[in-house]
Amino acid sequence: MKKIVLLLIVASVVAVFAFDLHSLLTLDSLKSRLEQFREFQTESPWLVAGVFFAAYVLVTAFSIPGAAVMTLAAGALFGLLQGLILVSFASTIGATLAFVGARYLLRDSVQAKFGTRLKAINEGVEKEGAFYLFTLRLVPVFPFFLINLLMGLTSMKAFTFFWVSQLGMFAGTVVYVNAGTELAKIDSLAGILSPGLILSFVLLGIFPLIAKKVTDKIKARKVYAQWTKPVKFDRNMVVIGAGAAGLVSSYIAAAVKAKVTLVEAHKMGGDCLNFGCVPSKAIIKSAKLAHQMRHADKYGLHAATPSFSFKAVMARVHDIIKAIEPHDSVERYTGLGVDVIQGYATIVDPWTVEIKHNSGETSRLTTRSIVIAAGAQPVVPPLPGIETSGYLTSDTLWDEFEKRDDLPKRLVVLGGGPIGSELAQAFARLGSQVTQVELGDRIMVREDPEISAMAMDSMRADGVNILTQHKAVRFERRGDQKVLVTEHQGNTVEIEFDDVICAVGRKARLTGYGLEKLGIETNRTVVTNEYLETLYPNIFAAGDVAGPYQFTHVAAHQAWYASVNALFGHLKKFKADYSVIPWTTFTDPEVARVGLNEQDAKEQGVAYELTRYGIDDLDRAIADSDAHGVVKVLTVPGKDKILGVTIAGVHAGDLLAEFVLAMKHGLGLNKILGTIHTYPTLAEANKYAAGEWKRAHAPEKVLLWLGKYHAWRLG
Ligand SMILES: Cc1cc2nc3c(=O)[nH]c(=O)nc-3n(C[C@H](O)[C@H](O)[C@H](O)COP(=O)(O)OP(=O)(O)OC[C@H]3O[C@@H](n4cnc5c(N)ncnc54)[C@H](O)[C@@H]3O)c2cc1C
Repeated sequence: MKKIVLLLIVASVVAVFAFDLHSLLTLDSLKSRLEQFREFQTESPWLVAGVFFAAYVLVTAFSIPGAAVMTLAAGALFGLLQGLILVSFASTIGATLAFVGARYLLRDSVQAKFGTRLKAINEGVEKEGAFYLFTLRLVPVFPFFLINLLMGLTSMKAFTFFWVSQLGMFAGTVVYVNAGTELAKIDSLAGILSPGLILSFVLLGIFPLIAKKVTDKIKARKVYAQWTKPVKFDRNMVVIGAGAAGLVSSYIAAAVKAKVTLVEAHKMGGDCLNFGCVPSKAIIKSAKLAHQMRHADKYGLHAATPSFSFKAVMARVHDIIKAIEPHDSVERYTGLGVDVIQGYATIVDPWTVEIKHNSGETSRLTTRSIVIAAGAQPVVPPLPGIETSGYLTSDTLWDEFEKRDDLPKRLVVLGGGPIGSELAQAFARLGSQVTQVELGDRIMVREDPEISAMAMDSMRADGVNILTQHKAVRFERRGDQKVLVTEHQGNTVEIEFDDVICAVGRKARLTGYGLEKLGIETNRTVVTNEYLETLYPNIFAAGDVAGPYQFTHVAAHQAWYASVNALFGHLKKFKADYSVIPWTTFTDPEVARVGLNEQDAKEQGVAYELTRYGIDDLDRAIADSDAHGVVKVLTVPGKDKILGVTIAGVHAGDLLAEFVLAMKHGLGLNKILGTIHTYPTLAEANKYAAGEWKRAHAPEKVLLWLGKYHAWRLG
């Protein structure tokens, strides 16, 4: 049925063009027939009005070009008032028919194909849809037929579409019909742009912006109504938390000479320096060396069981933290012009932050803006017995292990995400008996299954006992023994252990510092808009507390937007750009990704072409006895546009940078292929991946002719 309707529509549009009917809808034709029309009109005014109305509805409903000319004609034939009434209703009815038609004919297929991506639009339309459509209708430069069709694909109700369109198109219709009343004086469509009309259009163009500003102001006024704004402020900005997000926010503020205070309750540098990236990468390095010693025969040396003091390994981890500490220190930031306070911050009202200093005193600062950069903390699963058996998290394990003389003998790692996987492999390589427990059917689930499988194979080869589809049920203490009881396909599986690390995720810090009192909306993170503004337009959030990505580099990236919008948002605001976000899991092989992988592309219904290059073929990887891994590049079918890249292999995180740059700046694989890469480097893998893509797009026909040409040249 749908196909028949679609065919009929296509046939009627083709007929309009085939029989040159649309030429009736040009200004010249209109002018030449005006007198004729006038004669008809004098004879039968109602019939002419009725036919005109029906024709207008059809033109709009079938998205046939000519509605603008018909609007002018309405002015010329019927005058301002009657023309306005006819066009106003006919255009809305026609638009609504086009809207319903698009929904009926296209929506299901589009929803099925772009479901996840349309979800955001649907939510946006649900939230602000009427206003959104209103602004589109007000600005006559947007092709209305497109608006009709696209809105049909969203979840907007047909009635809402009808009345908003009726209202929104009214002003533009007045302008056009009015211009039509002067049709006789106009020679071309461009002629309607007389100074008076230009002014009307400019007003129409800026009206939506003014309307948006006014609505924003009204919303803000409502939010701030219960608070008293200080007349003067102590600070331009107060930043809560000195992790990556807080440090960068305050750095930017100080750099542009704003008066900024950074408050940190615990350790400068936050998670990344003290409990996260830095210690984990430090221990991964020691573990890798131990692994290489164990497999030294791979390099022609004698394999050796590494003998080491765990205390020394952990001391090195802490030395490394200390070596990096000055980068994030109070002294450095004070030197940069940031007022650093060590204490606990609480937002008291939208412009006041109370600080309980570590030294004991309490003070208050008034501030124009606040950046919340309070980070996240490890999730501890509420399993029976977990408290009595004792557990470690990324927050506690570094200090706890520093005190120990010996490596944990039997270690359970709960969770198969990046943090769990990195730690499981590192401790296994150092010599712990590691069991990694994961509920799902594979670890690193955000990556493509083959990439997870590569990581799992490598980790299993290192001795990690990866138990997938195992649900942790409870912890038990049996005398000296600690046991984790799990469920696996209906059976109970028990794992004896000495230490357990919980790495089942990290949750944003959302309580205890004023968000509740101010009614700042939180979900799993602080809810912000694309400018990183919270409910209060002068309070921003960045980093793990804002999500959705939990990476140091994303925290720093968001910090720029939060800080710049906080300080200069009254002049110009910037939307946080998440279009090219890279990340790496530092297992061996490293898994590095930017943009879409196959799994995402399939879920989101994005068409893609896959190019693979096996790193086992790369000269440098072979020379290093590290010849394993893959570069997977997803491109738009038939186009040199990168959708995403996954690299699994040694130094994948570093190799990815070239693709991140390419995606960020819209460079394709041809550009990567045309760039000289030093021989022999691992980075050549990127060039070879581009080469694979190029080979798959070789112009076969041209090559055939070239073959013939060269054969002919042979004589
Ligand atoms: C084991 C592990 C490994 C990781 N590895 C990587 C990696 O390799 N690469 C990567 O990109 N990311 C990694 N991460 C993630 C990274 O550490 C975080 O994304 C990053 O630290 C987030 O920075 P942030 O500024 O948002 O928060 P945080 O670094 O958590 O900083 C928030 C700070 O706010 C302070 N604070 C909170 N509330 C208050 C208050 N009311 N008053 C004053 N101060 C307050 C806290 O004390 C904290 O210091 C890792 C994380 C872990 C746990």
